[in-house]
Amino acid sequence: MNSALAPVMRLVPVLRNLVRTHRLERASPERLDAERRRLLVTLVRHAQADVPRYRELIAPETAAAFRGPEDLPSLPTLDRTEFHDRAPEELLAAGFTTANTKAGTTSGSSGIPITIRNSEHDLGYLRASYLYDMLASGLRPWDRMAYFRVTPFLRHPLERFGLLRTFHIDTSTTLDDQVEAFLAARPTFLVGFPHVIASVVEELERRGVRYGAARRVLFGGERLTPTARARVLGHLGARCHEVYASVEVFTIARTCRRGALHLRAADVVVELEQDDGSVVPADGTRAAEGEILVTRLHSEAMPLIRYRLGDRVAVGPADCGCGRHTPVVLRVQGRSQDRFRGVDGREFYADFLTYAVQDFAEVSRMQLVQERPGQVTVRVVLAAGSELAGAGVAGAGVAGAGVAEAGTTVTERIAAAVREAVPGFDVRVEAVRSIAPEANGKIRIVKVERAATG
Ligand SMILES: [Zn+2]
Repeated sequence: MNSALAPVMRLVPVLRNLVRTHRLERASPERLDAERRRLLVTLVRHAQADVPRYRELIAPETAAAFRGPEDLPSLPTLDRTEFHDRAPEELLAAGFTTANTKAGTTSGSSGIPITIRNSEHDLGYLRASYLYDMLASGLRPWDRMAYFRVTPFLRHPLERFGLLRTFHIDTSTTLDDQVEAFLAARPTFLVGFPHVIASVVEELERRGVRYGAARRVLFGGERLTPTARARVLGHLGARCHEVYASVEVFTIARTCRRGALHLRAADVVVELEQDDGSVVPADGTRAAEGEILVTRLHSEAMPLIRYRLGDRVAVGPADCGCGRHTPVVLRVQGRSQDRFRGVDGREFYADFLTYAVQDFAEVSRMQLVQERPGQVTVRVVLAAGSELAGAGVAGAGVAGAGVAEAGTTVTERIAAAVREAVPGFDVRVEAVRSIAPEANGKIRIVKVERAATG
């Protein structure tokens, strides 16, 4: 085990890992399964033997009897709070310290910022998965890449040779500044949260600027309404790819050329905890939906086994037909703790309501906020031109609720559709100019802002 942290990025391990992943993702299900088993058994035994916290959680005989993904339910799940509340020494494997590992810190959109530490070996996989994301999305050496994000990033060594030039579009600055930075960079490859890229494109359209240099767009981190997505891709004339990733577990899923979001089965093992509490493996044999539990197969410094990421995910069968035999993610829904409450106290995941809203072609952005049980405020940003269809506020007391009639405004029709989905709810729809992102730059489309959470 190499426990030294390289001062500069090592390219060779990255490329080696890239080739390995590429082969495994296209391998036969049998070969991929054998490799996952080998890595998983090694990881579980390593965690039990070398990590203080796992020594408390996993009995030696449980680790000794562990044979593969089917035995994962014999292990405890790992909560985010573990990383927040515990000293790193309890979670780091023997031989690793805060000095010879590199920290990755989540922005804490769930309210709990956490730090994961990676060894140089782990980072080889992290960088390979990022590079693979880019290459699979059509990146070419001469591309000029624009990263739409809040935090700056380290430059890579290839830029010195004029390859893969990168530009930072700081999404915490004003929209005017972002547009300036974008036009100055003249990027051909765009990477970032969908809503920030959409905002820049919409501003270009408003100014009458037609930007034709972009070839590819790589979206990640949140869901964009079909209307906004079509507008971005229509304006840019670019092809779109998508990743589902997080700081803790790297890239979990990535779109293939057919647009299906494949699980990266060579590097992660995914299970879904369903609403009845039962856990099923997302192995492509059946469709399932629930809270995602992720095991990162390459996490030697701080093993991540059955990590509760906090997202609600639906995974379908492995039947894409593109050459990959890995399961396909059908939907990534928001943080699973954002559950709405009815007046009767019943709680439910509110993500299905967002589909009732985004079905309206006029809706460019949306956010559903619950301030008290039995109530929801729907904020919508309407696409340019649809203001004529009737912006405004549709609140409680609007006549004809439940029936969409010709002549009613779009906000009234949205309110009616939402009321139909959650009968008895106090539904208010507000047309707003913009929706404020969280500190990490993402928009939470389902949000609970109850004064006192019970
Ligand atoms: Zn595919």
